[in-house]
Amino acid sequence: METVEAGHVDVIGWFEHVSENACKVQSETLRRILELNSGVEYLRKWLGTVDVEKMDDYTLETLFTSLVPIVSHADLDPYIQRIADGETSPLLTQEPITVLSLSSGTTEGRQKYVPFTRHSAQTTLQIFRLSAAYRSRYYPIREGGRILEFIYAGKEFKTLGGLTVGTATTHYYASEEFKTKQETTKSFTCSPKEVITGGDFGQCTYCHLLLGLHYSSQVEFVASAFSYTIVQAFSFFEEIWREICADIKEGNLSSRITLPKMRKAVLTLIRPNPSLASHIEEVCTELESNLGWLGLIPKLWPNAKFISSIMTGSMLPYLNKLRHYAGGLPLVSADYGSTESWIGVNVDPNLPPEDVSFAVIPTFSYFEFIPLYRRQNQSDICSDGDFVEEKPVPLSQVKLGQEYELVLTTFTGLYRYRLGDVVEVTGFHKGTPKLSFIYRRKLILTINIDKNTEKDLQRVVDKASQLLSRTTRAEVVDFTSHADVIASPGHYVIYWEIRGEAEDKALEECCKEMDTAFVDYGYVVSRRMNSIGPLELRVVERGTFGKVAERCVGKCGGLNQFKTPRCTTNSVMLNILDDSTIKRFRSSAYD
Ligand code: AMP
Repeated sequence: METVEAGHVDVIGWFEHVSENACKVQSETLRRILELNSGVEYLRKWLGTVDVEKMDDYTLETLFTSLVPIVSHADLDPYIQRIADGETSPLLTQEPITVLSLSSGTTEGRQKYVPFTRHSAQTTLQIFRLSAAYRSRYYPIREGGRILEFIYAGKEFKTLGGLTVGTATTHYYASEEFKTKQETTKSFTCSPKEVITGGDFGQCTYCHLLLGLHYSSQVEFVASAFSYTIVQAFSFFEEIWREICADIKEGNLSSRITLPKMRKAVLTLIRPNPSLASHIEEVCTELESNLGWLGLIPKLWPNAKFISSIMTGSMLPYLNKLRHYAGGLPLVSADYGSTESWIGVNVDPNLPPEDVSFAVIPTFSYFEFIPLYRRQNQSDICSDGDFVEEKPVPLSQVKLGQEYELVLTTFTGLYRYRLGDVVEVTGFHKGTPKLSFIYRRKLILTINIDKNTEKDLQRVVDKASQLLSRTTRAEVVDFTSHADVIASPGHYVIYWEIRGEAEDKALEECCKEMDTAFVDYGYVVSRRMNSIGPLELRVVERGTFGKVAERCVGKCGGLNQFKTPRCTTNSVMLNILDDSTIKRFRSSAYD
């Protein structure tokens, strides 16, 4: 049987080889994708009936990039909808698609589906193995140990055509590959399947914590998909640790766990353990009264070697709190990927999250890069924050220090698909670029896994302002927004300036309307689980946006060029808005 160490050497050897030859591997990857899917309706439309197999690599790449257009999700959506409705002829892939994933973001105000195949689960397993191998170079762990993993599978449902829909992580936790990962990396999650798939954030988190403590001496590291869940779990722990202690002491389970399958699964694992309970009590009393919970993780999990999770991008605001709980434990920033495709692996797990970049895995998809140039005279308060674009280049032509938007051609039927992420090439790992994640292009509102663009916000405000006009004699004259990540949980704040009279009751309804009108899956799930708090509507006094404009114009030129920023983190602007706020409402949409 393969040992863990031998497995690590193998997978690193494989990656070093494909990175060394990244340009050639990319050509081969494109060829494989096109050969596997030659003749599907979408490709026939653009490539006709060309014989891919007879072409050399250069001709194939040139032909592909000159004939197939760069698209966004909206362009492929009609094909994906036909698949969802049960059409079985080969539209995007030759292999029938039976599962769809829900990606974050929206298409024309609807949830975004992307195809999921066996290849998707296999690449997840491959990147997890690769990542574990690089990590073990710096932070080796004991074989057969446990992971305190804050992971949550969402619900699955069926489309009209009978296809299963769920998030990519939900599919993965239900797949064979998830079991294989635990076996090959010889690290086992503390919680059983019934907890991971429970579907109730509070109940799942309670059981993750309880079982994490039950197995505390065996826990080798703490992990989650995105770091905000670890932060949330431990701030929840600060409130309920006494309840958990009581459960450990008596081998019992709190009545807050009402899901029968979860109760049964957890109760079969725990036993009364008074000595562990009194140890936890002692540590927590000290943490609570003297230390402000500083170093909670190493104090309660003394054998934990590190914390692993995505800590970059929209997770950066959670780093301070995570570091506080981590004490001195290393924070290992996890890999870079999307529902559409995995992209890069963190080959320097010893670097702090602020400095992490991701080496592109050239076998996973065919990657193209749209060079982006920031517009001149950008300033936080009055720019539209976007870029000037140039023609996309292949992986072989990316330049150090340049910013790009990523374009993917995947094994799952997405061809020259704009991912919407802005990345910077910060170095090379052998022949493959290392990307640092800058931000999601056009994204303005995000708290954790939610992703809403200016267009989404505009649509949501339009809907609520129509409600306002229907029910009152008032209208919205200007608006902006802010993602408040300081409060816990974070929430969206929308500022309205209105003309005319509106009763509080009507404004309350508008606030609720906006909360429900954000349909991005990440937002909906986070709201249901209360990992994003109720949306807040703040009504500002008349003339406030005029003050904002004056202030902005004073800073950067002509009033005729001024556009109200639809989202802001600018403290000057927020101060003006907050000083002028006359009414506040919190949504009751998900109560
Ligand atoms: P989803 O398709 O919902 O899984 O979201 C994928 C998106 O999450 C990516 O396109 C990125 O914008 C963001 N993301 C994923 N991994 C990372 C990472 N390691 N660092 C920063 N952002 C990430």
